[in-house]
Amino acid sequence: MTNSKQCKNIIILGGGTAGWMTANLMVQQWQKKIANNQLSITLVESADIGVIGVGEGSTPQLKSFFDKIGVTEQEWMPQCNATYKNGILFKNWSGKDDFDSYFHPFTSIIDAHTAPAFVYNSQFRRKGYDVDSCPDRFFLSATLAKQQKSPIGNKNFPFDVNYGYHFDAVLLGKFLSTFAVTKGIKHVIGTVNEAELAPNGDLHALVLNDGKKLAGDLFIDCSGFASVLLQKTLKVPFISFKENLFNDRAVTIATPHEDTAKLNSQTISTAMKYGWAWDIPLTNRTGNGYVYSSDFCTAQQAEDELREKLKLTDSSIKANHLKMKVGRVEKHWHRNCLAVGLSQGFIEPLEATALHFVQEAIDGFIEAYENGGFTHQYQAAFNDKMNARFDGIRDYIVSHYRLSNRKDTQYWRLNGANPNISNSLKIIVQCWLNGDDLNKALVQPGMVSFYPPVSWHVILAGYGVFPQLNNDLEKNELANKYDLPHIDQFIERCSLNFQDHYQFLNSRPQ
Ligand SMILES: Cc1cc2nc3c(=O)[nH]c(=O)nc-3n(C[C@H](O)[C@H](O)[C@H](O)COP(=O)(O)OP(=O)(O)OC[C@H]3O[C@@H](n4cnc5c(N)ncnc54)[C@H](O)[C@@H]3O)c2cc1C
Repeated sequence: MTNSKQCKNIIILGGGTAGWMTANLMVQQWQKKIANNQLSITLVESADIGVIGVGEGSTPQLKSFFDKIGVTEQEWMPQCNATYKNGILFKNWSGKDDFDSYFHPFTSIIDAHTAPAFVYNSQFRRKGYDVDSCPDRFFLSATLAKQQKSPIGNKNFPFDVNYGYHFDAVLLGKFLSTFAVTKGIKHVIGTVNEAELAPNGDLHALVLNDGKKLAGDLFIDCSGFASVLLQKTLKVPFISFKENLFNDRAVTIATPHEDTAKLNSQTISTAMKYGWAWDIPLTNRTGNGYVYSSDFCTAQQAEDELREKLKLTDSSIKANHLKMKVGRVEKHWHRNCLAVGLSQGFIEPLEATALHFVQEAIDGFIEAYENGGFTHQYQAAFNDKMNARFDGIRDYIVSHYRLSNRKDTQYWRLNGANPNISNSLKIIVQCWLNGDDLNKALVQPGMVSFYPPVSWHVILAGYGVFPQLNNDLEKNELANKYDLPHIDQFIERCSLNFQDHYQFLNSRPQ
């Protein structure tokens, strides 16, 4: 294995969001070395092979990325037509009467006053008591989303609320590339035809189509689904999640806003016949996409269904069709190559976790690489952690399909009966059905879960995974311990400290 103490040249292959996020985090971390000419970082991207160009929603993690590289919201958001995201509204997923929609919030410190009531009530609802356990009522961000408010509180409101963003992925890539170059990243345009190996099997240099070579000590593969270095050159196997997650295609259509003086502050995810559709508000347009399985419908059927949903009669508004490779690599860091972004794997975009994962991968790598004195000492531990994160996210996404009671198409019937679910997911669902403590189950040895207990409560309660109400149960004062009108008032009063999303974005000084 290479001793990378002498790492002087880092080459990043790929200029999609993953490549430019990597470049920015690395230049930030190692700026002194770069300034002293001890380290050089070069990003090479093809002018002929485009970026994926979708990926318009984030988790709250993206805020910490910009904080880390020292960029304010006023600097990047207007340039990327970005808006705020309080969470995701799931519509028509459960297939059960009375459970048509629920909101998956980004939780914050303020929810410490109300979330325990939700968890408590859902515990009693799981025993058949008639208590309200719809998550929406218990989280401030659900109310902010419903009221189309921004998640930035007035100055006198003493709590911060967590939030994500919506943005134009292409513009975000451009913004990040300009910023990284001003910080000292070298930018090369060229298509990589092949990679040369050193005698020990490590990567040695990338050969461009004009014959130029880019030699390096460490290579970051951000070449998207092609995974030119890690999968194609170093032959690291890809583990498909097709058995767990059927969706492998997407079709996207951008539409103008219906009401130009209103702006949602949530992603809307609507279950469709063969998958689901997103509705993402940007400042200048709405991003729409339908993620589906090509085993169950054709690209044209999917496009037609999306157009019908959007009530779109204007055929001049074009659709964009994409293929997705869903799964992960066996090892994310192998020899002197780290894969980041789509080249390391992808779980369909239902909870918009891909960029979150990109950041975790780079942060985790930088930490492991530095702790190991710039050697590969912590490579195996890093890979184990990445795999567990991937598998944990996969399970949460799988649960959206497996828990559904929809029976309208073969797609939903097979998803609902899919036997290919992980042990961890089986334990979580069983624990819920038994009425046991999910918090405890999630920290048992061997459990893999990316999502916190509250998210599991939200999806299970939001889908109505409950027994029939038991009217024979005696009135139990304990079941009604929480004063729900009081919670409603508390959340309502908190929400008065937040402004209308559209007005907030338009009145904010640039
Ligand atoms: C339908 C869909 C919806 C998504 N929605 C979300 C979302 O809401 N939220 C989210 O976080 N993520 C989402 N994602 C994922 C997100 O788009 C990607 O994770 C993100 O854009 C990073 O992509 P990337 O940089 O890895 O790859 P790409 O954008 O594909 O970039 C690959 C780069 O590699 C270069 N390249 C490739 N081969 C070569 C070569 N031989 N020589 C030189 N250069 C080369 C290309 O030129 C390009 O610059 C979504 C993805 C899909 C498919």
